[in-house]
Amino acid sequence: MTTILFVDCDGTIRKPKSRAKFIQSPDDQQIIKGAENAIASWKEQGYAIVGITNQGGVAAKHKTLESAIAEQRYTLNLFPLLSEIYFCPDYEGLICWRVTRDGEFNITNNEPVEEKYKFRKPGCGMILMASNLFSGNLEECWMVGDSPEDEGAAVNAGIRFMWAGDWRLAHKV
Ligand SMILES: [Mg+2]
Repeated sequence: MTTILFVDCDGTIRKPKSRAKFIQSPDDQQIIKGAENAIASWKEQGYAIVGITNQGGVAAKHKTLESAIAEQRYTLNLFPLLSEIYFCPDYEGLICWRVTRDGEFNITNNEPVEEKYKFRKPGCGMILMASNLFSGNLEECWMVGDSPEDEGAAVNAGIRFMWAGDWRLAHKV
């Protein structure tokens, strides 16, 4: 069994380099101060680090699916200790993409699911999916994020939650 730290991406570990409100292109991102050390510290304590991000920008047509995939790939390059990233591109929360260093995989839910199990946060679908693939021990897992949706996803998955600001501060050098 693996213990996992699920990390929200935007506003938690990465932000636009351009200072725009949202990431404008896959390489328009930089590490939020403190995130790298926080990840290293949790990794050292034995946690697998997995990114979990809503990408409604795809549904809203602010970015293409290909661009969203490239964006997660760029983030994996920024954070060598981040294992992989799951993202949900649709507002209905039925589609999930898993982006790893070996490729990207589409995980689509064809069955209707209860609101709380949808992929889109605050649904906990991405957390449960990643936990299954990682043989995660949910009782020992944590979620860190900067929005109520992240907290909601943690509550729906029954895991512990921490706010990004506290998480980064605790590990600033
Ligand atoms: Mg966020």
